[in-house]
Amino acid sequence: MLIPPTPEHVVWLDGDYVPWREATMHVTAHHYGVGVFEGLRAYPPPRGLAVFRLRDHTDRLFRSAHILNMAIPFERDQLDEAQQEVLRRNRLESAYLRPFVFCDGVTGLSLHRHALSTHVIILAVGWQSAYPAGTPTARGLSLRTSSLTRHHPNSVFTKAKANGNYMNSIMALQEARACGADDALLLDAQGFVAEASGANIFIVRDGAVATPPTTSALEGITRATIWTIAESEGLLVTERPLTRDEVYCADEVFLTGTAAEVTPVTQVDGRAIGAGTPGPIASRLKARYADHVHGRCDDPHQWLTNVSHRAET
Ligand code: PMP
Repeated sequence: MLIPPTPEHVVWLDGDYVPWREATMHVTAHHYGVGVFEGLRAYPPPRGLAVFRLRDHTDRLFRSAHILNMAIPFERDQLDEAQQEVLRRNRLESAYLRPFVFCDGVTGLSLHRHALSTHVIILAVGWQSAYPAGTPTARGLSLRTSSLTRHHPNSVFTKAKANGNYMNSIMALQEARACGADDALLLDAQGFVAEASGANIFIVRDGAVATPPTTSALEGITRATIWTIAESEGLLVTERPLTRDEVYCADEVFLTGTAAEVTPVTQVDGRAIGAGTPGPIASRLKARYADHVHGRCDDPHQWLTNVSHRAET
């Protein structure tokens, strides 16, 4: 759960740290969905505030911008340092970081982008992830197959975490909620399982873990993390096309994402998954993931970047 910012909150905008209220842009900012962003988490001690997979998210931000032909006017190191400094200046203990890149300029009302300037903002807001028993993450989520099709890779670029790609997610989530489900299950243009509105999907069948290819889904960083963790736990992980009836018949289903972390799914289209409660493999991976992000185990892949709270003024 995101904690609303206070008036003292500071935002990084194009190299400057500015008060929350002054982090504004002109009404002519390009508003056609051409922009890219990231979402990443910083977790609280024991070993001190640490950002999970900071450089991997920054790398994906640059890949997304490259795909959309946007030149980010900063270096990766600068953005990594700014993300840490925004956490320090806001004295956040547990946070969600949202760097985003967008275009602005007087020709923002036109489809032409050549005269637009590119800007970068980094927001950091507090995150409180206390889910008491009985809430969706504790009981497992219900999904409903969406009437919307996930992106065809020749329609929008699915490897980019691009603003405009999220209209599909927002519509699908809205539809799923209106139907009483927690989230949407989106299928690709061929009818194979793609992902949820803001998370990747895995199934467990006969002890083996499978996830669909990322042709029509985001290349999730948590997806890659869980793949690594699952293999280190001795589990077989494969990437292969999944049909929705295979999802119905799976022993376990779970979603992965920076926000979702590892969230078991216990119902799809009104059908119970497995025993209808979070399964043992999803629960184990959820626990191992929590150990990694909270620095409670070795960090052989150097996934954590420690942020010391040396406040600069
Ligand atoms: N798919 C979509 C559409 C998403 O928005 C997200 C969240 N960024 C994910 C998958 C999971 O990606 P990650 O694990 O990198 O957060």
